[in-house]
Amino acid sequence: MAFEGLTEKLSAAFKKLRGKGRLSEADVKEAMKEIRMALLEADVNFKVVKQFVASVTERAVGSDVLESLTPAQMIVKIVNEELTNLMGGENSKLTISPKPPTVIMLCGLNGAGKTTNGAKLAGFFKKQGKRPLLVACDTFRPAAITQLEVVGSQVDVPVFQMGQIDPIDIAKAGIEHAKKHGNDMVFIDTAGRLHVDEELMDQLKQMKAAIEPTEILLIVDAMIGQDAVNAAKAFDEALDITGVMLTKLDGDARGGAALSIKAVTGKPIKFVGQGEKLDQVDLFYPDRMASRILG
Ligand code: GDP
Repeated sequence: MAFEGLTEKLSAAFKKLRGKGRLSEADVKEAMKEIRMALLEADVNFKVVKQFVASVTERAVGSDVLESLTPAQMIVKIVNEELTNLMGGENSKLTISPKPPTVIMLCGLNGAGKTTNGAKLAGFFKKQGKRPLLVACDTFRPAAITQLEVVGSQVDVPVFQMGQIDPIDIAKAGIEHAKKHGNDMVFIDTAGRLHVDEELMDQLKQMKAAIEPTEILLIVDAMIGQDAVNAAKAFDEALDITGVMLTKLDGDARGGAALSIKAVTGKPIKFVGQGEKLDQVDLFYPDRMASRILG
């Protein structure tokens, strides 16, 4: 399960504090060193760690904490609150366009889980009474269209495709199709690459300009840690993304991506993917994630 190492190391640091009863500023600083190491080992961006440790320390060495009857418990609470803030505080909702359809452009590197999670999201909103349409614009990877049709049918969401023609034409036609058929949400599956590359970014920028999507959701793989954060930064600089879906949180991701993305890009994680099954999708709640990390 994701975050195991981090959870273990944080609990060890807190256990030492609890064992001491009354705490001095030096005790807190010692614990903060361990927390800092735990976060770095979990692949959290080093600037994010520095800022995080500074905020927690500032609050934790306050006299109201150290002189309280349960200082260790209060420090755990502070860490929990600061982890929640780091990940964006509240759940950040998908923007729904006042003028349907809401168009969501799904972007990401190959293998991040774009196609699968496009279907997961479409299925998720269908269950909430929406009428989504999936649009197959990944014309770069030959098998992508068929893959989208397979997962689309599994969540009972129609898939619009026009073969391997210009993806921008497909996106525009897909949105027109949605308007005619009463689909109020359009999920656009775009092409990826193995690495961030200029040609891909140019194509996505052109698509963004042509269709003016309501949301540009970046799909990132939590398992690749710092690389996920770097990919998010690059996509955000090129496309000004509106949010992130973090996938594969069921794996042994060390946590770095979940904890760094909001702080590094300023863009919230809106959804998480927690398994290969198409119903393994959830809204992202920073407070629940913080509690899960703290074990
Ligand atoms: P794309 O290249 O970005 O379109 O990625 P795919 O949708 O083809 O997904 C790549 C692989 O990741 C597939 O084998 C998916 O089943 C798998 N996958 C996607 N999301 C998750 C997830 O949340 N958890 C796990 N364990 N696997 C996932």
